[in-house]
Amino acid sequence: MAPTFADLLLSPEVLQAIDTLGFEEPTPIQAQTIPLLLEGRDVLAQAQTGTGKTAAFALPLVERIDVKRRQVQALVLAPTRELAVQVAEAMHNLGRTRGIAVLPVYGGQAYDRQLQGLRAGVHVVVGTPGRVMDHMRRGTLDLSAVRTIVLDEADEMLDMGFVEDIEFILNEMPEERQIALFSATVPRRIETLARKYLRDPQRVSVEHDARTESQTRQMYVEVQYRDKIEALTRILDLESPSSAIVFCRTKREVDELSATLQSRGYTAAAIHGDINQAQRERLLQAFRDGRAELLIATEVAARGLDIPDVTHVFNYDIPDDADAYIHRIGRTGRMGKKGDAVTFVTPREMGQLRFIEKQIRKNLRQVRVPTTGDIAARRQEALRTALVTAIESGAASTYYAALVGTLAEAHDPLAVAAAAIYLANGGPGGRHDEPTTGDMDEGEPTAEGGMVRLYLDTGRTHGVRPQDVVGAFTGEAGIAGSTIGTIDMFGDFTLVEVERRAATAILERATVLSMHGREVHVSPAREKRERSGETTEKKAPTARKKPRTRKPS
Ligand code: ADP
Ligand code: MG
Repeated sequence: MAPTFADLLLSPEVLQAIDTLGFEEPTPIQAQTIPLLLEGRDVLAQAQTGTGKTAAFALPLVERIDVKRRQVQALVLAPTRELAVQVAEAMHNLGRTRGIAVLPVYGGQAYDRQLQGLRAGVHVVVGTPGRVMDHMRRGTLDLSAVRTIVLDEADEMLDMGFVEDIEFILNEMPEERQIALFSATVPRRIETLARKYLRDPQRVSVEHDARTESQTRQMYVEVQYRDKIEALTRILDLESPSSAIVFCRTKREVDELSATLQSRGYTAAAIHGDINQAQRERLLQAFRDGRAELLIATEVAARGLDIPDVTHVFNYDIPDDADAYIHRIGRTGRMGKKGDAVTFVTPREMGQLRFIEKQIRKNLRQVRVPTTGDIAARRQEALRTALVTAIESGAASTYYAALVGTLAEAHDPLAVAAAAIYLANGGPGGRHDEPTTGDMDEGEPTAEGGMVRLYLDTGRTHGVRPQDVVGAFTGEAGIAGSTIGTIDMFGDFTLVEVERRAATAILERATVLSMHGREVHVSPAREKRERSGETTEKKAPTARKKPRTRKPS
């Protein structure tokens, strides 16, 4: 079994720092080199880029520093200024809980600043060979207390012509010292260097491992607060994730969201701080078994739990900072598997998103909320694949060829096939996509997100009142009153906003209703407008003009 960080005998403080960074288990190079370095052995380690070499040497280094002694106890050499800064930062993060002071030292930066840093007393210096050598010559860098020297990206340093500088530095090091050489490749020159300076070095070599290269696609959608639910359900419908976690900021939001999702036919397990540990475990078990498709959770509640790897993480609310973000999305894309992380950002939170992006040094890709057209297209594609498979397997013909033959004598074979698919999808009341896919709700300006408008061929001149509309919609059409939005009444027609799903239900089963003793026809607002050739101005005022009435509450 792969070791955990705790198995590597790191101290609780350092384990905590690792946890904060969101690392869940050591990479192979870490698992192999950390114990050797903790023992004080010299190491020559080879592993490709992206395999976590920095932490492989940084963790034992921060572990072994004597914090009370304000002297440079470790020196890390890196080929470039960028790498020196990056490694210094990683060491700072990993050594934070132990109070380790790290100073990057590189060419191009004023000596003054570096001198100030050095005088203040640091435990670790990370520098480019040239500048470190300069400081040594000037007598501004005391390396007499150094116990460990790391050459990071050693092959690159040699390629860049630093070999003499490196040898100069190594020759000045105390007798009692540990040397670790980390490199993506081990050309002969590195072997030579190792033979000359390392004592009984342990060689560790790891083949490429995809683990640390996160396979998670990080995305965001910009969405108004009130449209979040609709956006989430559409993405769920489009992606049909096999397992997903939805993170919310508050307990209340967890409860509300899971109730709404359940009412829309999703199975969701909700966990937060008010739910006790035993219950949480039970809910989590339902999620693990697949009895619940979704896990809705606050970050805190999720933190202590062993949650299996999921295909999707949704940040229903944008996390407070990069740490939280990394924690949350770390639930997907583990072990080189693919994962998607989608963060919902309201327009007002865009600044917060940029802040997180800066901290994680990565820009999230913007994606749009799928339209119902996208979802319909995806479903049709799946259906098409299933049909082709059935045709090609020949199984369908075995059972139904004779029946289809008989039907085709009296009906168009196309109609026969369409009827078969219609019945297979539930027949009347089943789940069918509009042939004019995506049309209904793409008239955004006329309806609020998630709402669509229906056109009724009756209005005030017929004596119809908003309550008649609500009555017919709830009584005859059987939709919930809460799905009805604004009712705009005009002389001889009416526009009613309803939730998309409710609209679909009405259009499928109740396009003729009776209101105030009249037969009223219901149709999608835009379709009506186009059919009748009316201008948008007259029939469907986009700019919410008078007259308008709110639905009675
Ligand atoms: P290398 O020096 O081998 O090219 P890095 O040390 O720069 O690789 O690490 C590559 C990435 O992997 C970094 O973003 C780092 O934070 C991350 N990483 C390192 N160790 C782990 C781990 N144990 N679990 C998850 N991510 C890790
Ligand atoms: Mg590296």
